[in-house]
Amino acid sequence: MPALPTETDVLVIGAGPAGAAAAAWASRGGLDVVLADAQVFPRDKTCGDGLTPRAIHELTSLGLGEWLQGQPRNLGLRAAGFGQTLMLPWPGGSLPNYGSAVPRTELDARIREVALSAGAIPLDGHRAVDVEFDRGRVAAVTFTCVVEGKKVNRVVRCKRLVVADGAKSQLGRRLGREWHKDTAYGVAGRAYIRSGRSDDKWISSHLELRGEHNEVLSGYGWIFPLGDGEVNIGVGTLATTKRPADVNLRALTELYTDQQRAQWALDGELQLFSSALLPMGGAVSNIAGSNWMLIGDAAGCVNPLNGEGIDYGLETGNLAAHILIDTKDSSAVDYSLVWPGELSIRYGTAFSIARRLAGLLTVPGFIKTMGPVGMRSAALMTIALRVMGNLVTEEDRDATARVWRTAGRASMKLDDRPPFS
Ligand SMILES: Cc1cc2nc3c(=O)[nH]c(=O)nc-3n(C[C@H](O)[C@H](O)[C@H](O)COP(=O)(O)OP(=O)(O)OC[C@H]3O[C@@H](n4cnc5c(N)ncnc54)[C@H](O)[C@@H]3O)c2cc1C
Repeated sequence: MPALPTETDVLVIGAGPAGAAAAAWASRGGLDVVLADAQVFPRDKTCGDGLTPRAIHELTSLGLGEWLQGQPRNLGLRAAGFGQTLMLPWPGGSLPNYGSAVPRTELDARIREVALSAGAIPLDGHRAVDVEFDRGRVAAVTFTCVVEGKKVNRVVRCKRLVVADGAKSQLGRRLGREWHKDTAYGVAGRAYIRSGRSDDKWISSHLELRGEHNEVLSGYGWIFPLGDGEVNIGVGTLATTKRPADVNLRALTELYTDQQRAQWALDGELQLFSSALLPMGGAVSNIAGSNWMLIGDAAGCVNPLNGEGIDYGLETGNLAAHILIDTKDSSAVDYSLVWPGELSIRYGTAFSIARRLAGLLTVPGFIKTMGPVGMRSAALMTIALRVMGNLVTEEDRDATARVWRTAGRASMKLDDRPPFS
């Protein structure tokens, strides 16, 4: 075991996909990195466990391609609702044409291992609680941890700080991060259950989610086969300050499970139910300072239309690490002038239009009216899967990609508060 670190160049707070990816890339780039997490790995994280082709692409770049070969592989989305079932294959193109689903207990431990193999020093069981500033720059982070049954404080000094502490981002808040809940955010719960169809080759979403009085709810249910005898089952909905989600997620997940029990050969009780709120579409301000950056969920990098954020976590970790590598010798660089702009270039237009659409989905009756219209057209839903699934890449030049980008640019012009500002 290496000695506990007391100082480093790059200190990464949070070893989920975002922090572990940042630590892996920064270590590979020759930087000294400490990767701290409040928990001890392997640890669970509330999630649907779905890996989109974009996440597969990033995991492969990290060197996890061989490991992915041993994981379940899905071919696309089975979208069901309003009397229709559509099989929508992943579009492929410049991204892989398959996805996967791996419990976070395993996935996150794997990505963290990549970071440690690249040289990052682990600091598990250490919760970051405060920062020390020196002339406007973060100079150190204070952690609490338990040593021989007693809670103690430890300080790690750093030149640069990456905050990847997830949706609530306690440390981000200490640095001035603000999450704007007037923009649509996610409210979701998940559990595990045994299923006779755990090897199904399609992930499933039920866009017609019904409550106990058979009313159509504005949300969706999912079943993601894990290939190990179980599926991840969950429900998610969108909310805003104006239209909070008045929903008991546990009861709704149980109801949805009962609705799907026969079709999915579900067996037994739900296990490990948990739920969380999700910042989305970059609806977060103050995501960087002179020598620190927020990444992943902490920076609100979650798709407003389907709640996936693992791929954004991996991508923002990668991007932040390369900025750290490129600027390692320039002490004058101010990340608050760099990072929001980088994220805006990469995700601004897509997040702006997606969160505008997500806001519409919170309008009562919208899904009930528009759901049947959308589900009648496989062509429309194929396009929806691509744009909603963050599967339009910068290289794509086809009509859908062009229209999506143009709509995004127009949407950004209308935004009172564009993403990341
Ligand atoms: C119900 C639900 C279903 C979802 N389903 C999907 C899905 O199917 N596919 C998908 O792509 N995304 C999904 N998401 C979103 C996805 O879980 C997140 O976007 C993703 O985990 C973000 O990764 P991250 O590394 O930014 O944060 P996290 O994965 O949350 O990691 C943050 C880490 O920081 C640590 N930490 C927190 N505070 C501190 C502190 N003060 N000090 C030290 N460490 C700290 C935590 O212990 C944790 O390990 C879902 C989310 C929810 C809630």
